[in-house]
Amino acid sequence: MAGIYIHVPFCRRACNYCNFYFSTSLGNKERFLRALCKEIALTSDYLNPQPVETLYAGGGTPSLLTIGDWKIILDALHRYYSFNYLKEFTVEANPDDLQDAEYLRGLQELGVNRLSIGVQSFFDDDLRYMQRVHTADDTLRAVKSAQDAGFTNISLDLIYGVPTLSHDRWVKNLELTAALQVPHFSAYCLTVEPKTTLENKIRKKILPPATEEHAAEQLDILMREATNLGYEQYEISNFAREGRYSLHNSAYWSGKKYLGLGPSAHSFNGTTRSWNVRNNIAYITALEEGRRDYEEEVLSPAQRINETIMTGLRTAQGVNTAAWGNEIKQTIHRYLQQINPEYYTLHGDVLTLTRSGKFFADRIAAALFLEESDVSLP
Ligand code: SF4
Repeated sequence: MAGIYIHVPFCRRACNYCNFYFSTSLGNKERFLRALCKEIALTSDYLNPQPVETLYAGGGTPSLLTIGDWKIILDALHRYYSFNYLKEFTVEANPDDLQDAEYLRGLQELGVNRLSIGVQSFFDDDLRYMQRVHTADDTLRAVKSAQDAGFTNISLDLIYGVPTLSHDRWVKNLELTAALQVPHFSAYCLTVEPKTTLENKIRKKILPPATEEHAAEQLDILMREATNLGYEQYEISNFAREGRYSLHNSAYWSGKKYLGLGPSAHSFNGTTRSWNVRNNIAYITALEEGRRDYEEEVLSPAQRINETIMTGLRTAQGVNTAAWGNEIKQTIHRYLQQINPEYYTLHGDVLTLTRSGKFFADRIAAALFLEESDVSLP
């Protein structure tokens, strides 16, 4: 089984912390749609013969597309894929785009069965700090409208570590998420990326800085409160009730194949990773000329194992080293000796992080990364 990701590279306004690829000018939307349809045709054999199990539209802001735009994209996909095995079709949406019942019904009629809503916080102070376009009231109306339209599989995106977000408010955000009866939420730490407006404003002391200590305390609160509220932390940033995991993201973490369409989208076919040009005009121009503008790399055996370590360690299932052979396992055991044993458990071949280890997931993964010389297998 495989997945298809569609990157919709437009946003109404730039949030100050964002480093995803998007444009705030929708002037090229029609050209983008035509280019995307061409890319769908040119990549139609990429996943063969894998049936498509998940479709995911991310961005940018996919909810800026109209129902007519979605029909164009889906018609193009249906020309090459049957979707007989499709289980999940997620559209990322901003709360301000989900105020219209007709739009929500239109998405449902097209087969969208999961919404991922960019809430970030239920407090307007935090939304202003992040320069989000919506308000807390927009969010409450959006979730209600989506539920009234029949969506039950809803995920909310939240951000913690924001200087204006007190610990009490963070608990409130989690409680409100649970009270809204959504089966899934993702919680990400605010990261101040270089060259973003946020970094610039913090440097000029226009906005207060985000500190590691504040973020670590809120990760602690997150893990405690999510459990209290009945959510399972099945991945460090992802929480689900009643097993309503994101099938699309779970497939990424378990190394399944996926095709990424649109500017900056990444694809993986089991051995090769490729990524489209991160620029709308370059992406569109190439496809108008009948070619794709992308780069690719063939992953070495060590890189493939390192990716499995990096993604697997973040999941509740952990990393299963059973298939890697004794030499590699011994190397990983040797590297593990540098790590505080309170941070991980090793049951047979399965390595998982403990609660305290989750605070250092990326550093632990990096400490376990294999060198090319560690992997003698093809
Ligand atoms: S809506 Fe999402 S993709 Fe667009 S600027 Fe904000 S965070 Fe970035």
